[in-house]
Amino acid sequence: MAGQSLDPKHWVTERNDDTGNAFSLEIKQKVQEVTSPFQHIEVYETTKFGYLMLIDGFTMVSTRENFIYHEMMSHPALFTHPNPKNVVIIGGGDCGTLKEVLKHPGIEQATQIDIDEQVTRLSEEYFPELCESNNDPRASILFDDGIKFMAEALPESIDVIIVDSTDPVGPGEGLFNHAFYQSCVKALRQGGLLVQQSESPLIHMPLLKDMRQAMLDSGFADLQTLLFPQMIYPSGWWSCTIASKGQSVPIMREADAKDRPFETLYYSEQVHAGAQALPPFMKKAFEA
Ligand code: SAM
Repeated sequence: MAGQSLDPKHWVTERNDDTGNAFSLEIKQKVQEVTSPFQHIEVYETTKFGYLMLIDGFTMVSTRENFIYHEMMSHPALFTHPNPKNVVIIGGGDCGTLKEVLKHPGIEQATQIDIDEQVTRLSEEYFPELCESNNDPRASILFDDGIKFMAEALPESIDVIIVDSTDPVGPGEGLFNHAFYQSCVKALRQGGLLVQQSESPLIHMPLLKDMRQAMLDSGFADLQTLLFPQMIYPSGWWSCTIASKGQSVPIMREADAKDRPFETLYYSEQVHAGAQALPPFMKKAFEA
């Protein structure tokens, strides 16, 4: 099969000309295509990965593998913050991150703000397992621009902000700059944490360095980038970056993570510890 071109009738491909790579999944059929006021959204039924959603041609989430990303975008930050109660998720319209956040019994309020209601409506239909906590009394699901929401947020009102957004293009672009980070610093309580999906350490290192620098320049005191596999994103190797307000990023609450009162498929206290280990090329890039 090597070298054979992929018939678009049977394969969906995300092609990235800027990084010279592409990713494909074998499909049975396209089941939905919606152009919202913000984005172009497609949903495919794949042969081996369940459903797959793309936004503006970029793979977002598949049934089979999304647990890694959603667990790693929520549990490391929530087991790093000393006592998280009020969490805000920017983006995350498929509701998978919200579901993971609400597994933490100490959480009192989880607010999800996605700019595009269509993402959530399609997730309710094709990824219902990600939406099963949407009716939790602690959950609020809003449809608005996360940039605006954060700029208008009450000062010192949030413990953890999770930015589970698209890449820094289109509506997601403004979630990776100084102005947004400054509004996050203002909205976070002392000791509060921002955690943001921070792209691929292999093929997006300049962007990751810029993000980290913008976070520090905007007033965050300390950063911690964690690594994890993310099969359907470019390179398959992904990261999230935790930024802390007013103090160093705390040590993981290892005992709490070990004794977590809920099931996870990828996250554990050992995986959390391992995710913090940065390879030499990254340490060097971050120190430069
Ligand atoms: N959680 C998914 C996964 O498992 O890979 C991928 C991320 S999620 C689908 C990305 C979301 O960011 C989209 O639903 C998009 O609508 C949202 N988004 C992009 N820009 C936004 C903004 N400025 N404010 C709020 N949400 C935004």
